[in-house]
Amino acid sequence: MKSETRVAVIGGGVVGASVLYHLTKAGWKDVLLIERAELTSGSTWHAAGGMHTVNGDPNVAKLQQYTIELYKEIEQISGQSCGVHITGGLMLAGTRERLDWLKMAKARGRYLGMELEIISVDEAARLFPLLDKKHFKGAMYDPIEGHVDPYGVTHAYAKSAQLGGAEIVRHTRVTDLKARSDGSWDVITDHGNVHAEYVVNAAGLWAREVGRMVGIELPILAMEHQYLITGDMPELKGKKEQLHCIDFEGELYLRQERGGMLLGTYEKAGVPWSPTQTPWDFGRDLLANDLDRIAPSLEVAFEHFPALGDAGIRKVVNGPFTFAPDGNPLVGPVKGLKNFWVACGVMAGFSQGGGVGLALSRWLIDGDPGGDIWGMDVARYGDWTTRAYTNAKVRENYSRRFSIRFPNEELQAARPLRTTPIYERLQAANAVFGDYCGLEHSLWFAPTQGAKDEFSFHRSNDFPHIAAECEAVKNSVGLLEISNYGKFEVKGPGAAEWLSHVMANRVPAVGRIALTPMLNERGKLIGDFTMCRAAPEHFLLIGTYAAETYYLRWFERHHRSSGVSIRPCAMEYVGLSIAGPNARALLQELVRDDLSTAAFPFLSFKRMEIGMVPGYVGRVSFTGELGFEIWVTTDYQRALYDLLVSAGRKYDLRPFGGRALNCMRVEKSFGTWAREYRPIYGPLEAGLGRFVDFKKEEFIGRTAALEERGGGGALRLVTFKLETADADALGDEPIWHDGRVVGWVTSGAFGHRVNHSLALGYVPAAIAGATSGFEIEIIGERHHAQPLSEAAYDAKGSRMRT
Ligand SMILES: Cc1cc2nc3c(=O)[nH]c(=O)nc-3n(C[C@H](O)[C@H](O)[C@H](O)COP(=O)(O)OP(=O)(O)OC[C@H]3O[C@@H](n4cnc5c(N)ncnc54)[C@H](O)[C@@H]3O)c2cc1C
Repeated sequence: MKSETRVAVIGGGVVGASVLYHLTKAGWKDVLLIERAELTSGSTWHAAGGMHTVNGDPNVAKLQQYTIELYKEIEQISGQSCGVHITGGLMLAGTRERLDWLKMAKARGRYLGMELEIISVDEAARLFPLLDKKHFKGAMYDPIEGHVDPYGVTHAYAKSAQLGGAEIVRHTRVTDLKARSDGSWDVITDHGNVHAEYVVNAAGLWAREVGRMVGIELPILAMEHQYLITGDMPELKGKKEQLHCIDFEGELYLRQERGGMLLGTYEKAGVPWSPTQTPWDFGRDLLANDLDRIAPSLEVAFEHFPALGDAGIRKVVNGPFTFAPDGNPLVGPVKGLKNFWVACGVMAGFSQGGGVGLALSRWLIDGDPGGDIWGMDVARYGDWTTRAYTNAKVRENYSRRFSIRFPNEELQAARPLRTTPIYERLQAANAVFGDYCGLEHSLWFAPTQGAKDEFSFHRSNDFPHIAAECEAVKNSVGLLEISNYGKFEVKGPGAAEWLSHVMANRVPAVGRIALTPMLNERGKLIGDFTMCRAAPEHFLLIGTYAAETYYLRWFERHHRSSGVSIRPCAMEYVGLSIAGPNARALLQELVRDDLSTAAFPFLSFKRMEIGMVPGYVGRVSFTGELGFEIWVTTDYQRALYDLLVSAGRKYDLRPFGGRALNCMRVEKSFGTWAREYRPIYGPLEAGLGRFVDFKKEEFIGRTAALEERGGGGALRLVTFKLETADADALGDEPIWHDGRVVGWVTSGAFGHRVNHSLALGYVPAAIAGATSGFEIEIIGERHHAQPLSEAAYDAKGSRMRT
């Protein structure tokens, strides 16, 4: 083994091998892969090798497409067969809801160029004769599905990487990692040490243990997973290879394996494996079978595919593989550690391994993953992902792998975990809660205790109550808890200068607020913040909580060594917002400061005493109404809530939740992070051009943003008024124009104040000005979509500025 290398990749499973190949492909030849045993000695060797392109996140789906297309390339370079069988695949719907879900998945696939097709049960039975038609209502056909040989794929990546200059050492275990002061690493192994500029943790089943070598606890857990292979079946003899098939109701997948069928399950009673420590001596071992655990799924299988019942079982495989709480990979540089990267938690290595390697190599070499990989970014998790939290969420995710997640369905595992001081008050007010980063927050308020969401793709039981909440905000005043935002305190003599460098808008004067995008060097949106200036050297930055670690990692990368301190303080400052035409009158009863527009205009920010409660008051609005946000330390939140509720009685103050807020911000065409604002859009495209201050001589992304302004950008965010009966757009639906798919929806909602359905979405800039010809596809049906030239509600913004 060499003693110096640019990158040391730890782990020779399919993911580590792909990372290594992509680094060499991008031109980095001085790279080394270290493998404890033989290549594939973790989860990889016993995988079923299935692959498909469909994923709930279109950006992850794109990387899955890329992975599948890559197999030809690595076969050609290496001469090693990947054993690719593209059989095509069927996803079977046993219920009407599942068929709706498939229609939505097909629609999402449209703008990714996927040729998915909804077919009848008869057609499905023609393609997959083993099924018993009476259990199904329809199916989706995907021509690009199949399976590969896990050994072949891993070795094809590895050989291609070696031909590109990489070194691979086997039977060498990394036992420790020691950081040097320059950010490089001493990689300690049982066969000597190597000094590496970068380390990539692709240790799969042992990624958690490798993480612990550098003091982090990665949110991953291995689950046992079983599949069985039947004896030879006469039904398959002499026939073309059977399709890949998913039966959601049975929580199972099927494919042909030689003369029999391979049948795997994601059973409800899934079991974690080695929840605290993966043994180092585990290798090419299998776990003891437990067919009782998967018996309910097998019973469904024998009913739905009767021939399986007579086929007998030739072999059972029970092996572990790792998951993150949401089932997507963990990729990228780790906050707080220089030059330490991860590529782990990959639960579908043969669909995702190539995409993970591509994103990581681009990111490491160019400083940018080259696309939108928020759904896989290791920074989407924060401190709340304790080991027990991860355990509960991974078990839930595994058991729901083939379940429908309805848009209004909140998952229940690991709840309630984090609550704010007014949680019981909100409970008493009949709040229906959701979970965001482990924190309970109110979604809507019901008329009685114990209300629950009725899960649906259509409008549901919350609809009239959200309407009433929006009505209250429009006509009088509503109260919303806003604790679930990320907050950062930026202080010091260099604070203003640093913010001016990192944020695209001008830094506000003392007592003022500026809304600002944060751009990367490519001029793309990586954040949107409310920047509040409390004192010359004291700022409060408010942004998306889920992106706290993501932002901190960016701040760390662009930190100036002196004169500025940046401190996350999300749960130190919790907040309440009041909004509506009576918001000022209500708050004025509680503060001595003059809240008139002359004294405290829109976008003002000031320390005030609200009754006995000290806090920061900002005059901002995400609802479009006259509004105030009040930030207090946690110990004061309950007193503040009681004060506002008590003073609000005479104004019929009504609590409202996150869903009403969503309806109102869509009416105002206000975007939000991870929906309208993502690293694939520029500020002009996203309608944030007015928040970029080109008068500043310097800020990150300025050159690229100027280019965007000059060239006009490729896309435009457009607001559409929709004609729908009982279902609104949710996000990711295709936008059609003159019979062609031209874009995608980012958010949708019913606008209760304007009394029609709305959607926000991106279309090519060239057609953004068209006034007709648009349609949006919702649950398989295209609906007329009228583009609006301005926000649907109070476009001039006079209500919030009043
Ligand atoms: C029964 C079963 C069926 C599956 N079916 C499918 C399927 O059909 N389709 C699909 O896409 N996926 C499937 N999977 C999941 C798939 O196996 C994983 O997504 C994939 O193998 C993950 O690869 P990896 O490289 O991240 O991890 P691993 O395969 O676990 O590789 C990690 C490697 O790192 C090495 N290593 C760890 N620590 C060190 C160290 N300290 N020093 C040196 N080396 C180290 C290990 O020896 C190992 O070789 C299945 C998994 C199982 C268990």
